[in-house]
Amino acid sequence: MMSDEDYEILPDDINDIDCSFKIIVIGDSSVGKSCLTIRGTKGKFKDFYTPTIGFEFLALNIRIKEKKIRLKIWDTCGQEIYRSLISSFYRNASLAIIVYAINNKESFENLESWLDEIKNQTHPNLKIILIGNKSDLENERVIDKNKAENMANEYNFDLFMETSAKTGENARLIFIKAAQILYDELLHLKENKEFNTTDNTSTCGVSISNIYESESDKEETEGKRRRKSCCK
Ligand code: GDP
Ligand code: MG
Repeated sequence: MMSDEDYEILPDDINDIDCSFKIIVIGDSSVGKSCLTIRGTKGKFKDFYTPTIGFEFLALNIRIKEKKIRLKIWDTCGQEIYRSLISSFYRNASLAIIVYAINNKESFENLESWLDEIKNQTHPNLKIILIGNKSDLENERVIDKNKAENMANEYNFDLFMETSAKTGENARLIFIKAAQILYDELLHLKENKEFNTTDNTSTCGVSISNIYESESDKEETEGKRRRKSCCK
């Protein structure tokens, strides 16, 4: 899908950012969300991750073509079961990374309930990346790659990849692809819409959530909702 390779990872401390986006990382406990987030942003693998209470985010700055983009990546810090109580976690998210582990059948089967949660808590144009993590555990694999790929197609996800936080395979690529997806969405919106520039977290003068809640998009929005909920 995304063929353009014009990107660059930028230092953490730059302050002339053009756009900033909130990304949420969700999925069952122990599938490797925290390890992937750390690996993808810091390049490290921490075997023992001690969850803190609540949520925290890690930032990654990436230049995509002419735009300097900051990804604010929110991790659940082991609070998965309380997630629906904490709507601030979902508020203004532009993209969700949904993670299962290729050696954990239940984590794949629970994807549907994570999708329901997204539908209830976020806006319909949320971008979605599906990740099958722990690809290094090939000998324990229980989820076929094709099966997950089919699901990603059916649900119209923006991307599917298998990754390993342990070996680092594709870990950083998740976030580069995320930045490219959000960059493309910005261009698309700027070409096609009149929008209100006064709001809010997704900057560049664009609030993706507000645009897609507007009257003119109702039909498109509901079409997308229907597609998502009827595909089993
Ligand atoms: P979370 O609950 O989804 O945040 O999962 P964690 O990131 O805390 O990881 C749970 C466990 O899986 C830890 O023991 C990690 O060391 C391990 N783990 C995470 N990612 C991988 C991976 O890609 N491969 C393997 N083999 N283990 C992983
Ligand atoms: Mg965690």
